[in-house]
Amino acid sequence: MNKKEYILPLLPLRGLVVYPHMSVTFDIGRETSNQALKAAMDSDKMIFLSAQMDMELDEPGIEDVYQIGTIASVKQILKLPNGTRRALVEGVSRAVIKELVSAQPYMTVRASEIKCPEGDYDITDRAFVRKLQEEFEKYFTSCQSMTPDVFLSIMAVSDPSVLADRIASSVNFPIDIKQKALECADVYERAELLLVELARETEVLKIEEKISRRVQKQVEENQKEYYLREQLKAIQKELGDKDGISAEAKAYRDKIKALRAKKEVKEKLLKDADRFEKMQSSSADSAVMRNYFDTVLSLPWNKKTKESFDINKASEVLERDHYGLEKVKQRVLEYLSVHSLKKNAQGPILCLVGPPGVGKTSIVKSIAESLGRKYVRISLGGIHDEADIRGHRKTYIGAMEGRIMDAVNRAGSKNPLMLLDEIDKMGADYKGDPAAALLEVLDAEQNFAFRDHYIEVPFDLSDVLFITTANTLDTVSRPLLDRMEVIELSGYIEDEKFNIVKKYLIPKQIKRNGLEDKKLTFTDEAVHDIINHYTREAGVRNLEREIGSVCRKAAKSFLESGKKSLRITQNTLITYLGKHKFNFDLMNEKNEVGVARGLAWTQVGGDTLSIEVNIMAGTGKVELTGKLGDVMKESAMTAISYIRSQAESFGIDASFYKTRDIHIHVPEGAVPKDGPSAGITIATALVSALTGRAVRRDVAMTGEITLRGRVLPIGGLKEKSLAAFRAEIKTIIIPEKNIADLDEIPNEIRKQINFVTADCMEAVLNEALTDVGKPYMHMPLSIVHNTREKARALN
Ligand code: ADP
Repeated sequence: MNKKEYILPLLPLRGLVVYPHMSVTFDIGRETSNQALKAAMDSDKMIFLSAQMDMELDEPGIEDVYQIGTIASVKQILKLPNGTRRALVEGVSRAVIKELVSAQPYMTVRASEIKCPEGDYDITDRAFVRKLQEEFEKYFTSCQSMTPDVFLSIMAVSDPSVLADRIASSVNFPIDIKQKALECADVYERAELLLVELARETEVLKIEEKISRRVQKQVEENQKEYYLREQLKAIQKELGDKDGISAEAKAYRDKIKALRAKKEVKEKLLKDADRFEKMQSSSADSAVMRNYFDTVLSLPWNKKTKESFDINKASEVLERDHYGLEKVKQRVLEYLSVHSLKKNAQGPILCLVGPPGVGKTSIVKSIAESLGRKYVRISLGGIHDEADIRGHRKTYIGAMEGRIMDAVNRAGSKNPLMLLDEIDKMGADYKGDPAAALLEVLDAEQNFAFRDHYIEVPFDLSDVLFITTANTLDTVSRPLLDRMEVIELSGYIEDEKFNIVKKYLIPKQIKRNGLEDKKLTFTDEAVHDIINHYTREAGVRNLEREIGSVCRKAAKSFLESGKKSLRITQNTLITYLGKHKFNFDLMNEKNEVGVARGLAWTQVGGDTLSIEVNIMAGTGKVELTGKLGDVMKESAMTAISYIRSQAESFGIDASFYKTRDIHIHVPEGAVPKDGPSAGITIATALVSALTGRAVRRDVAMTGEITLRGRVLPIGGLKEKSLAAFRAEIKTIIIPEKNIADLDEIPNEIRKQINFVTADCMEAVLNEALTDVGKPYMHMPLSIVHNTREKARALN
């Protein structure tokens, strides 16, 4: 084989290997390369191309280029607009550098051509061609970047050497592999090398593909949400969402981030904001969410007022706002002292119990003021659904937070004083028991993370000071009661009311009605009249209303008459308040047979209750009228049984229950009456009617009766005695066991009323019945005398 040798300019290539029979274009940046090309163009256009071992080198020497390269013919040189040149060359043959002829101004080398054995299309050749094509096809199917044109043109080559070179040139092999392929003069060796490298490259492509698919998936997931959001925005814009729900969501998000709440609370709310953003701006759902955010964001998550407790100040505030109530004030101050000493530990809940209008709410307001806490009130009257306390889930139409969270929101601070008013009026039904929910609210172990169904995230109620009020403890659930410290307030007597009106209610109403600079006065008689004839209550609520009503009318008449002063007297009162609304049920005008006066305890305090009995010839029927409750009816039956068993000693015909009809009636039939405390009154009226002995008109009584005629204790003695006092009763018969309760009775009343205790019915009858009368059947006088000693006058 004769090897030709040439003296040629050398052009070092960066990252490129040129094979024989292949046209390649490349850009020339270096001046030396330019000169080499020029030299080639000036002679026979032949040039020696050799790849640089290190692409980064700018001025490679002969030792920096591969020894084996390609002799190529320069076909064209283009001058590009940016000043560089682009050369089109065609490889001619492989060649090896024998010697560096000169290094300046460009390298010139003596190169010797490497002749490859010519393809003879024998079987081995074909096998290699096929195998190469097969591998190359596999590569092509995995390769995204190769165009089908290039692939088809390569597949059309049948010469193994050319095919191998074309493949080596077009596949993205690393530069050292390409160089190796160039250096392999032997076709089969080259083909084998390429088969291995092709397979490897295909594998690399597959792995690459896998990696990129995985990466793509991740990117896609991130992008998907972004795209969807963008799309949503576009759709919403098209649908006329001018204000942009996204902008709203962003505003909510900013507010949520600024919220000083716990991390999990914020995370949950941010999620909600994302959900909100995907909603239709005008949809019902988005309206629900807006309400929700507005509510939750306005909660005082971390807002507190500074609590301060000064016992003197507290005492001052209580005194300033309330007349009397000494014991109550004392107990409240004790409670507050303990509360302040125990710092954060929650003690029992204070519960103020008493009839309406006795100042419970007003005391609680004073407590709030003296502690520096915000005051909020929740009225629990009539609540019978757990959701009232705990809220409705958002899925309900018109759902909202429960009363507790609503109150916290109204207070605008996390440590308000919360008044739970009328807990005794709370009921339970199929919708759940609000008392159970309330227990959770009041329980220090649980209320640091109270979960309202509507708010959904927990809220800390442990800083709230709860105080409750009730009219009676009878209907308060036991577990609630166990957590409470009870302070009782009873009704006011007339004198107390008078002072409250004079010192508090009149000044308050004058101020409220803008009459400070006018001279409005009430005479004492007028005040007493208002108390006695325009109100009937244990407290002073209606009294205050009536005073207010006088003040309003007075304001009008000040304007109309231009007068500077006005005096409300007993006589002018009627022009302001109209006719008397109440007239006392005063004692009867004379002693009567079959009518006894009992004392009852009602919501508005005590009252007197007259019980009438008629005995008629008949067949033993007993009739009870006047809207009596079951317990009262039973009391009546017990009284009858007792009298039957004692008929003889009373001097009554023992067969009266067969030959007479008995009708027991309690007037004011519209008012429901119940309770056992009328027992002795019914029995007295019965005995009076059966014996014909009249009942003393100045005696009233209260007490439960047993079958054996014993007298059992009753409750509400103070209220009852106030009622008796108003009715000008002189003597009250009470059960002996109630003797301790007499301490509560105001001195003024004890001075005027004679309290008589009785442990048995005979003692009651002795005190209540007159000795003489027109007997229905005579009672032997001896019995009257024997039992008289048993009744003991106490004062
Ligand atoms: P309750 O909560 O017991 O139903 P409130 O506290 O609402 O009663 O009282 C009704 C009105 O009577 C209030 O204006 C209150 O200031 C006034 N009041 C009640 N008791 C007194 C008192 N002892 N001294 C001054 N004002 C009183």
